[in-house]
Amino acid sequence: NKARIRQEIIKINTEAARFFYGSLNGKEGEKARQYLKNRSISGHIIRKFGIGYSPEDWSMLYKHLSAAGFDEGIIAESGLVLTNKKGGFYDRFRGRIMFPIFDIRGNIIGFGGRVIDSSMPKYMNSPETKVYNKSKNLYALNMAKNSGEKQLIVVEGYMDVISLHQNGIINTVASLGTALTESQGRLLKKYAEEIIIAYDADMAGQAATLRGLDLLNDIGCNVKVLQVPEGKDPDEYIRKNGEEGFRDLLKGSVSLIEYKLKLLKKQTATTATDEIEGKIVFLNKAAELMAKVDNLVEREMYVKKFSSEYDISPEALNSEVYKRLRPKG
Ligand code: ATP
Ligand code: MN
Ligand code: MN
Ligand code: MN
Repeated sequence: NKARIRQEIIKINTEAARFFYGSLNGKEGEKARQYLKNRSISGHIIRKFGIGYSPEDWSMLYKHLSAAGFDEGIIAESGLVLTNKKGGFYDRFRGRIMFPIFDIRGNIIGFGGRVIDSSMPKYMNSPETKVYNKSKNLYALNMAKNSGEKQLIVVEGYMDVISLHQNGIINTVASLGTALTESQGRLLKKYAEEIIIAYDADMAGQAATLRGLDLLNDIGCNVKVLQVPEGKDPDEYIRKNGEEGFRDLLKGSVSLIEYKLKLLKKQTATTATDEIEGKIVFLNKAAELMAKVDNLVEREMYVKKFSSEYDISPEALNSEVYKRLRPKG
């Protein structure tokens, strides 16, 4: 029975996606079509991702699903409608660009909806249902898993994935928000030999990058960071610089240790009161990070780089690293 309800919710979602797609291409979808056009989303990619539009009406979807013969209890369980005080149903998503969320097999398990003006909240998502578990799903993994590449790129949002796919970078998935979960991490590990985190270049994205790096590293993934410059996100960057520009960023992806050393350098440069103190603080903390690098060749490269950059002997820096080595267990 539970399996039957799940099947039924997926059917409802599929019918809703068809409805939203039709509405995007109808008279009521004019502004939404214009919006997508302004963001350079092609017709081909709109079809590929099943992008649609939820009309501004309060119950058009509910009426449509009901008329199609779906049971109202199960329509409610899909999360697409909400109940009012009088026990009537109204549509959760109204006046939004609709992004179907797929599971790994391509079943539609939920939706994200974006406003087409500056009203809040900018995004709304389906609630958790019998088929949608937000923390266990990665947006577009159903497509990205067939890219034939050994890397998977993780971005924050719908538009980042869509823009990258449109520009030929199809090994991209989204965590849908900045907090990567352990289940999502395990999924990434299962489908890729190397994970590239490519979050937004803002405070939230940077904090989430650090958490994601540690999480993925802890579960044994090879992980790197792609740094998007100038406060942009991957969508904005690739729209401006094209596939080639983005592939250059990809080539410049840095390892966990390089990323942390880079951040540390920036932090000490801005917080230290004088030059000597800044150097001492940086080198001691850097020694701590380098002590975590098990590969001796890699470790020596960092020791060389920073001892020359900070004008101290490699021997001195190396002994500080040695003092901080983990006991081998
Ligand atoms: P856009 O480019 O359309 O403005 P974005 O993806 O750059 O959107 P961000 O603010 O960077 O927007 O958010 C990244 C992702 O986080 C979104 O795509 C969405 O999946 C999720 N998200 C953002 N805001 C919300 C919200 N209020 N509720 C739920 N999810 C959200
Ligand atoms: Mn963001
Ligand atoms: Mn964006
Ligand atoms: Mn963003």
